Amino acid sequence: MNGNRGLLIGRMQPVHKGHINVIKDTLEEVDELIIGIGSADKSHTNSNPFTGGERILMLTKALRESNIDPSRYYIIPLEDISCNSLWVGHVKMLTPPFNKVYSGNSLVQQLFEEENIKVIQPPLFNRTEYSGTEVRKRILNNTNWEELVPPAVVKVINEIKGTQRIHKLNQKEISELI
Ligand code: ATP
Ligand code: MG
Repeated sequence: MNGNRGLLIGRMQPVHKGHINVIKDTLEEVDELIIGIGSADKSHTNSNPFTGGERILMLTKALRESNIDPSRYYIIPLEDISCNSLWVGHVKMLTPPFNKVYSGNSLVQQLFEEENIKVIQPPLFNRTEYSGTEVRKRILNNTNWEELVPPAVVKVINEIKGTQRIHKLNQKEISELI
């Protein structure tokens, strides 16, 4: 272990097969991977239905199911802060030291690059289907969302009654529009 440690951040609302694929691929390039759960303090909204803790559970179970060695990664919840200019320092305060960042998000890329941290844009897998937005949409429409997430995540979402929550949050949004 020579300190080749990468950081990958996603909100993971919920964890889907794209996340697991990118984590597997990135682990080929680094000794250890820090997986940051973004907006960890957000929950119970249409775009962020699950709590930070629920997303930690999804990710832990899905990575174990994929037989990924747990000594190779760290799962760290990252709460939002209101100042973008201070965000990289906030992330560094909460994470083990890292020397590169894997992200497809242009703001995340810009903020790390301005702090002279190397940023790599990982390839996207089957992006039309493997996207959090698509999973949440399919849960609302009661269509085959289960095929987009690892079996372990289906189990967690069922355990926490996640589909009922998403339906209820959507009703709340509709009632606020009336
Ligand atoms: P949402 O639609 O809710 O924004 P998302 O699918 O974009 O969800 P995020 O939780 O926003 O996922 O995480 C974003 C990060 O996850 C990206 O920067 C990228 O590194 C990775 N990622 C997301 N989807 C894929 C995918 N299909 N293939 C590879 N990586 C992905
Ligand atoms: Mg996204």
